[in-house]
Amino acid sequence: MPLTGRTYHIAGAGISGLTLALALARSGGKVVLLERSSAISEFGAGLQVSPNARKILNNLGLDEVLAARSLEPAGIDIYPYASRQPLVTLELGASMRAAFGASYSVMHRADLADAIYQACRQLPNIEILFNTGSWTVESHASGVTVNIDQTGKKTRTDDGFAFIGADGVHSRTRTEILGGPPGQYGGRVAWRTLVPFDAAAGAIALDKVSVLFGPNYHLVCYPLPHRQQVNLALFAQVAESQGEFGTRPQLPPASRPSPRIDILLAAAGDGWTPWPLYTVGTPTWHRGNIGILGDAAHAMVPFQAQGAAMGIEDAATLAPLLITEPSAEAAFKNYERLRQQRVARVARISATNGRIFHMRWPFSLARNLAIRLQGPRGHMRRLAWLYGHDAEAALPSATRQVGPG
Ligand SMILES: Cc1cc2nc3c(=O)[nH]c(=O)nc-3n(C[C@H](O)[C@H](O)[C@H](O)COP(=O)(O)OP(=O)(O)OC[C@H]3O[C@@H](n4cnc5c(N)ncnc54)[C@H](O)[C@@H]3O)c2cc1C
Repeated sequence: MPLTGRTYHIAGAGISGLTLALALARSGGKVVLLERSSAISEFGAGLQVSPNARKILNNLGLDEVLAARSLEPAGIDIYPYASRQPLVTLELGASMRAAFGASYSVMHRADLADAIYQACRQLPNIEILFNTGSWTVESHASGVTVNIDQTGKKTRTDDGFAFIGADGVHSRTRTEILGGPPGQYGGRVAWRTLVPFDAAAGAIALDKVSVLFGPNYHLVCYPLPHRQQVNLALFAQVAESQGEFGTRPQLPPASRPSPRIDILLAAAGDGWTPWPLYTVGTPTWHRGNIGILGDAAHAMVPFQAQGAAMGIEDAATLAPLLITEPSAEAAFKNYERLRQQRVARVARISATNGRIFHMRWPFSLARNLAIRLQGPRGHMRRLAWLYGHDAEAALPSATRQVGPG
């Protein structure tokens, strides 16, 4: 692999930053990855990885390692509140693969991050600097100059072709360098936990994703058999004024019991981690040779399970542009043009899902009827534009030929 002679600085080694680093380095770029933490973060719990993202990860050589760490669920059981039977089981498994050319899988976020990180470590043209949350960057005619303060070390000054902030929802790159807005709290909290595999048996199918609707909340569960755990994420409305969120979700009083939800809540006990949900909306994804991607640019509510997928798609679009365009600014302009409409559309359906999932009676009756009428393949028809997207094919043809492969 011949090196291009260009150096790229990326702030943030989350899923988006790691994917971008790997894609750039596989195409011959030299990458310096700055990460605030002392190691790749273990935070989070489960992630659903849809075919649009999985295709990109497979093209980066990760198919085998991800297959060993993930489950390809047979479907998604949708349960209305207190219902004994699923309203519908949406098909995943072989149907998704056949329709969209890659699997729909579920895994632990840390397993995905580690798989990409280990692939990065194999490449000599990626340098990863941990304990590096403090840096300054300036854009100028020939690229960028980055001053890096690694905890306990002398300040280092680097010149590079581009600086990319993949530093998450509270991104310094967005707010301090590009002058963008802070993340907005939208009045929802995700409570996340992992329970032992056997503790969830009897409540949900252990080869599928389950979505359980409640009044003003919903619970998403999926098995992680290679870890012998089940991931639970409960999404509820919590006013900003409440302050501390506590160690378990406070659910609104319900008129009927839901034994299935009770079993899962009992299995989780006090082991929940609250995660307030912030979103980011900004049209400014770059200035000069400095840009942003992933949650830093467009954090969205997770009700279509696409936040990480959008960061992965951003990386697959931006990397070949940064390799081929004459300037980083030209690359960022093309990247904005290719990505912003699609990301906005995904953010909109995610927000709409949040409203639909939390409907109360009698509106929930209409929702349930609509879901039933769509049938087990309704999501595949309705979301073909999302799951069938091929980020590489969407690039201009001259750029595509050197895309990460
Ligand atoms: C409950 C929940 C469920 C979700 N489920 C799904 C799902 O099923 N599928 C899906 O696709 N998405 C899902 N998402 C969204 C997904 O988790 C995020 O969109 C994704 O992890 C964002 O990745 P990122 O790399 O852009 O940002 P982050 O993961 O936030 O990474 C940012 C990195 O930057 C580092 N950093 C921050 N500041 C600095 C700095 N100044 N200098 C250097 N480094 C810095 C941080 O330490 C971190 O490592 C879910 C989100 C939530 C909350």
